[in-house]
Amino acid sequence: MKDIIAKAVEGGYRFSNVDHVYYEEEPRFLDEIFFSHDFLKAFFGEEETCMRCGLWFMKKCTKDSSHREVGVAWQYHAQQLVLSEDRIKYLEGFLE
Ligand SMILES: [Zn+2]
Repeated sequence: MKDIIAKAVEGGYRFSNVDHVYYEEEPRFLDEIFFSHDFLKAFFGEEETCMRCGLWFMKKCTKDSSHREVGVAWQYHAQQLVLSEDRIKYLEGFLE
């Protein structure tokens, strides 16, 4: 969990005092942080991303023409996060 926050902070996310209260005392409020655009941008970045598979659009997605919708990384992952059952686990999958 700490590593998730550290990565977001590294990417430019600024935790407010309110966030700290949430994190320390009410972990369920973490969802509000996880779904904020500022947090997602800081964590996943804004690289052009294939909205079908989530790979970096220009260099990595080499799938067929059904992979045409381009978005940015954090938008793709926001969608996945909504669908995932364990959000912390999903985010942890992107830590090095
Ligand atoms: Zn793709």
